[in-house]
Amino acid sequence: MCSQGGPLVPFFDWKALYAERADTFGRILHETATSGGFILQSAVDGFESALADYLGVRHVVGVSDCTNAMLLGLRASGLEPGDEVILPGHSFLAAAQAIHHAGGRPVPVELSEQDWLIDPEAVRAAITPRTRAVMAVHVNGRVSDMDALLDIAGEHGLAVYEDAAQALGACLDGRVAGRFGAWGAFSFYPSKTLGCFGDAGALITDDDDLAQTVRAMRNHGAGRDKVIAKDCAVWGVNSRLDNLHAAILAYKLTYYDETIARRRQIAARYQDAFAAIPALDLPPGPDASNRFDIFQNYEVCCDARDALRAHLSVQGIGTIVQWGGVGLHQFRNLGFDQDLPRTDRFFARSLLLPMNHLLTDGQVARVIDSVREFFA
Ligand SMILES: *Cc1c(COP(=O)(O)O)cnc(C)c1O
Repeated sequence: MCSQGGPLVPFFDWKALYAERADTFGRILHETATSGGFILQSAVDGFESALADYLGVRHVVGVSDCTNAMLLGLRASGLEPGDEVILPGHSFLAAAQAIHHAGGRPVPVELSEQDWLIDPEAVRAAITPRTRAVMAVHVNGRVSDMDALLDIAGEHGLAVYEDAAQALGACLDGRVAGRFGAWGAFSFYPSKTLGCFGDAGALITDDDDLAQTVRAMRNHGAGRDKVIAKDCAVWGVNSRLDNLHAAILAYKLTYYDETIARRRQIAARYQDAFAAIPALDLPPGPDASNRFDIFQNYEVCCDARDALRAHLSVQGIGTIVQWGGVGLHQFRNLGFDQDLPRTDRFFARSLLLPMNHLLTDGQVARVIDSVREFFA
């Protein structure tokens, strides 16, 4: 095997996340911890309002993680037992789990071959009298075809929600992910584009009542302070965002635009380099005029996926088959019974190449050279 020079490229370098700005992160953690405010203090307020400004949304509610953001969003939206919620089979289990635990039934449907996201026509075909809502999942940091989904939802009286865990700051036609429907949910899991040093998440909405309900639900159903019987209008849980995480996130948000710009720059390099490889299917590039993708991941498809993956591994390049190459509908033991051949075919051909803002130009060049070498 011809081994090329240059740096190794792990798919994701977890230690680099803190090392990136260790001195500042350390100072923030120290200041927050020594302030004595740990739960629902000013750091949480500060992050919520900074993110609300950033996204141009009325309300941000910081919570423990994105899965719980969706669970609380669904409960606060009044999902009822047996209500069906349609979502793409090409997604992570989290949204389906939230639907299940909110009492609903997740109904996975096919992806579109245009954008590899939920296919609006498949949504239309899956609507039954029990259908209550559509959950778009903006996989890889690319916004789903929301105009088509909103039209279909409007025709059938369905609510629209967004699993925007991978899409903080992504836009379509000038509108930001998470603001198309009743609410959107974000994840700050470490490897996400705005990653924390642990679990964290947020729900965003322009609906005052919904925001107030989720705010109460995240803290045992109480308002912001102590749990007092007369204040508990709803059943809640503990799903609070920690101050330590909020303080780190508020700081990372100050340079989030640079983070995204670097990801988009890498995506443009990949796109330019791979355009001449007909066997490789590429995602929409960062130059599309109507969309602003944030490239949580850079996903490619090809028939020789496993061989490509093995070749890159020998070259010291880490890749991932997202979600183990298994769509939601494959979790038969959880009650799914849909057949989604297009989604299966997609999972059999798709591969995530290294993509994050900490990659060096040398690492990006190594990925490009190695992919080209494979197809030469
Ligand atoms: C990461 C992720 C989630 C889960 O986020 P958590 O914060 O870990 O709960 C949900 N949906 C998608 C698409 C994700 O990528």
